[in-house]
Amino acid sequence: MIKAGVLKNANGSAYIEFGDNKIMCGVYGPRDVHPKHMANSSTGILRCRYHMVPYSVSERKNPAPSRREIEISKVIKEALEPAVMLERFPRTAVDVFIEVLQADGGSRCAALDAASVALADAGIPMRDMVSACAAGKVADTVVLDVNNEEDQAGQADMPIGYMPNLEKVTLLQLDGIMSPKEYKECIETGIKGCKIVYEIQKKALNERYFGDDHK
Ligand code: ADP
Repeated sequence: MIKAGVLKNANGSAYIEFGDNKIMCGVYGPRDVHPKHMANSSTGILRCRYHMVPYSVSERKNPAPSRREIEISKVIKEALEPAVMLERFPRTAVDVFIEVLQADGGSRCAALDAASVALADAGIPMRDMVSACAAGKVADTVVLDVNNEEDQAGQADMPIGYMPNLEKVTLLQLDGIMSPKEYKECIETGIKGCKIVYEIQKKALNERYFGDDHK
């Protein structure tokens, strides 16, 4: 489930429930860059922050940004960059703030799905959506949408981000070991999942802008 335009004070926003993941995303921009020296005179810049709230996981979570949160912020930024027409907004920044309220494995993919919808909701020109989901290997079988239990017990986890119209992969990570044949099958399965997610993203934007007729 994705809902677009849920926050009044952000330029664009989206909330996603994906498995047991619950994630809120707010987008600002294009707006002036502070600190000013970070501005680029030939293009806009994209900044992303992925953050987990203390009650998002069952273990006690250190409130300081973890290495994992810094890594995920970076991969989400890099997965979104090919889709956002930043060159149209030199000297400005687009900021994407992701708050994971509840995490259940595959949260980077769910966060990316919400971020794409929030960027579109903010009216930021995009070449395509970025749709993401995780495929993986559990009990020697390639499966889609790996949750936390499967992630921990499974043999491999592969988050994929994909631009469905341009047919380009913007995020591909792999944690685990698989054969070349399984690797190919996993990518194909993941891309099929991304295409399903894309329909849900479009539905969220249609509901936001064209009302209940598009439910
Ligand atoms: P992703 O959420 O993208 O799959 P990881 O594979 O790093 O990213 O994390 C898998 C899952 O592990 C998370 O979705 C979350 O459910 C759990 N997790 C992550 N960080 C913590 C933490 N600090 N304490 C407890 N569980 C965590």
